[in-house]
Amino acid sequence: MHRCLICGYLYNPDEGDTAHGVDPNTPFEELPDSWLCPVCSVTKEYFEKVA
Ligand SMILES: [Zn+2]
Repeated sequence: MHRCLICGYLYNPDEGDTAHGVDPNTPFEELPDSWLCPVCSVTKEYFEKVA
């Protein structure tokens, strides 16, 4: 999973982000560069990998 450094949102690839057009089972690495944190709207650069 990847965690937003700003708000703590966790991106779960098993769930994707269906509210924003990301299907379940989408790895973080395959998210479009235009994807933003659903909570605080920062870009992917603000996410860190967590176990
Ligand atoms: Zn965030």
